[in-house]
Amino acid sequence: MNLGYRPRLVLWIALLVVWGLAAASAGAAALPSLERVAPDVYVFPGQDGDANAGVVVGDEGVVVIDSSPTPETARRLAQEIKRVTPKPILYVVFTHFHGDHTFSVHELAPTKGIIAHVYTKDYLAEHGAEHLKEYRARLGEANTQGAKVTLPTITFPDMYSIPLGKQPVLLFYQGRGHTRGDIVAYLPTAHLLFTGDLAYAGRVPWMGDAYAKEWQQTLDRLAVLDVTTIVPGHGKYGGMPVLTTFREYLTDLYSAVFVAWMVKRPIEAAKKEIQLPKYESWLKYKEWLPANVERVYRELTAEAEGAPSFETMPAP
Ligand SMILES: [Zn+2]
Ligand SMILES: [Zn+2]
Repeated sequence: MNLGYRPRLVLWIALLVVWGLAAASAGAAALPSLERVAPDVYVFPGQDGDANAGVVVGDEGVVVIDSSPTPETARRLAQEIKRVTPKPILYVVFTHFHGDHTFSVHELAPTKGIIAHVYTKDYLAEHGAEHLKEYRARLGEANTQGAKVTLPTITFPDMYSIPLGKQPVLLFYQGRGHTRGDIVAYLPTAHLLFTGDLAYAGRVPWMGDAYAKEWQQTLDRLAVLDVTTIVPGHGKYGGMPVLTTFREYLTDLYSAVFVAWMVKRPIEAAKKEIQLPKYESWLKYKEWLPANVERVYRELTAEAEGAPSFETMPAP
């Protein structure tokens, strides 16, 4: 039977509508939901290795750990918080200055403030605008529409406690690592630790602002805490192995680069030659391992030359 022009057109329109709906629902389904990891504690998991955020519901209100990667995910996070509690968002904690943890905080609009290490505020105040440019270049215009620099309103150099009733949140700084001002959020009641980007799971870390040697020592100080659940900055949460496996990566990387540096392999050769097959399955292995090698190599050189401080290296 010949359907003729009009019925065919109607069929095509119907098909396009169905495809459109399917695509729209696939998009919506891709946005994450809160996952409960302890009583009144949730993880908002990043997609495909993107940054995680955390949510702690206290007696008076909510504390959010990191802003989530983009304004779109932050809006979703705000909706998700409404789904689990009618209480307001009181504070957002920035574990460090990176845009995928800070640039969407305005979507969460905390009523009492944004808390961070004093260095994180200083960095954002001084270099936030250029960091926003890099962030846009890396994540793309479409994903970063509405992203902006917002400065922390409460800062501290070593320790800060948020009294949340039966679920206190202890924030502290244990030394330099992924950046110069990383803090962790420790929930003693839940035996749970949000590490920020001091730990990654199943993903090679971004080390452009890192202190490779001190990072290992910082992780050792965290490993003595009484915790059963560890939520990394990126990747799946789990038990203590999240911390120890990631510590091992840093040690293996550092040792491999140290050997190459000691025998005076040129930096470009070291970047090509050093492989860590144990971590081949990790996200960003191919893309970021050479940059990790370069960072450690430069740190060793700076240290040997007695450089007073080793600062941020531009993105590869
Ligand atoms: Zn991150
Ligand atoms: Zn980071």
